[in-house]
Amino acid sequence: LNDLFSNIEKLNPELNALTSIQKDYAYEKAKLLEKSSHKMELPLFGVPIIIKENIQKIGFPVECASKILKGYKGQYDATVVSSLENAGAILIGTANMDEFAMGSANEHSCHGVVRNPHNTSRVSGGSSGGSAVACAAGFAPITFGSDTGGSVRQPAGFCGIYGIKPTYGRVSRFGLVAFGSSLDQISPFARNVKDLDTVMSIVAHEDANDSTSLKGSYKSKLGSVTLKGKTVGVLRSILKQGVDDNVMKEFLTLEENLKKQGVKFIDIEIPSLEHTLSVYYLIACAEASTNLSRFDGIRFGHRAQNSEDLFDLYCKTRSEGFGKEVKRRIMLGTFSLSAGFYDAFYGKAQAVRELMSKQFDEVFETVDYIYLPTSPASAFEFGINAFDPIKEYLYDVFTIPANLIGVPGISVPANVPKGSLPVGLQFLAKRGNDAELLAFAEVLE
Ligand code: GLN
Repeated sequence: LNDLFSNIEKLNPELNALTSIQKDYAYEKAKLLEKSSHKMELPLFGVPIIIKENIQKIGFPVECASKILKGYKGQYDATVVSSLENAGAILIGTANMDEFAMGSANEHSCHGVVRNPHNTSRVSGGSSGGSAVACAAGFAPITFGSDTGGSVRQPAGFCGIYGIKPTYGRVSRFGLVAFGSSLDQISPFARNVKDLDTVMSIVAHEDANDSTSLKGSYKSKLGSVTLKGKTVGVLRSILKQGVDDNVMKEFLTLEENLKKQGVKFIDIEIPSLEHTLSVYYLIACAEASTNLSRFDGIRFGHRAQNSEDLFDLYCKTRSEGFGKEVKRRIMLGTFSLSAGFYDAFYGKAQAVRELMSKQFDEVFETVDYIYLPTSPASAFEFGINAFDPIKEYLYDVFTIPANLIGVPGISVPANVPKGSLPVGLQFLAKRGNDAELLAFAEVLE
């Protein structure tokens, strides 16, 4: 732990990946673990882990990078946190993020931006940018983020590491501050597939505290998948526009390599994907506007001074506490849910989501995996997208479908030439096939 903390203290001031370093807690935990009589049976004995600061851990800040939650500390342990600690892990800190997990670059955080360790003039990706950078920079071998529309896979791609968004319901959301409840999944980052698989075996299980939790649990399948005979679907037509050359090059290189090893590639079409962004931003904002209504100045964090009455207190607290992007989404979501507009917007978005799910299911009858870039480009420079929401939203176009339909998706780092910016390549599998997906990713390594 000493070496780890001195490395973190050296690098974090520039990278700004962590919002708290829990040294005392970690040393205390390590002492207890050392004394434990069954330490040899603990699969994560002594493994340091970092969580995004929207995950509950008693006493750790759970500020969601928002002024409205300034000073708010975890009141209970998320299911993921208890599972990790029961397995012997040591939580060592909390990670920076986009405010309430809304963003694609970690540029919307009250704690400031997170820098990409591969090139500090570039963004980390978001919204789990802090967790991705913490993992990539060696602060911990495994870190956790949340993925609502790509927030783990996209920064994993930008930072050159692995990130998996499990099947919806495979990992409990109990203790995760909700953004879009029907899309959110707590999701891990690691620097290799084996670590992701180990940690999935620990956190991916049924949980009575989350009504959407799936029955059963994750059972590793590492070593059981061979490339030969696998069929992979490629959405060739949607790759035609807007994918940067360096990303396309890596995409095609891996495709060629896999073909040589006996993987069959077929072109597929999912027509409803043209509506990906509209459907996601209607549903995610609608759910966010409801979920964020609990931040009213009464129950948590910040409370405005000098209000005239209760309504004024709500208004002032929320105006002062929420950042611009969060306000934009609350307004969008509230509008689309309001009487008279519900059917035209939210209702329609749900119908297209269902159609998309059906079209994906049909495709998965003929392919084992779907192959896409994680993002249309590599990590960009600070400031170029932060003030243009539509431009920023476009970065999610390849990651969002997995959240809308609930399937697992993994971002694997392409084998880029030394010195180049990382590129993430993404594979999606059928709902529930998380273990197969990781076993497949392992043979790509
Ligand atoms: N970038 C997307 C958004 O801003 C995804 C966020 C996420 O997955 N938390 O909504």
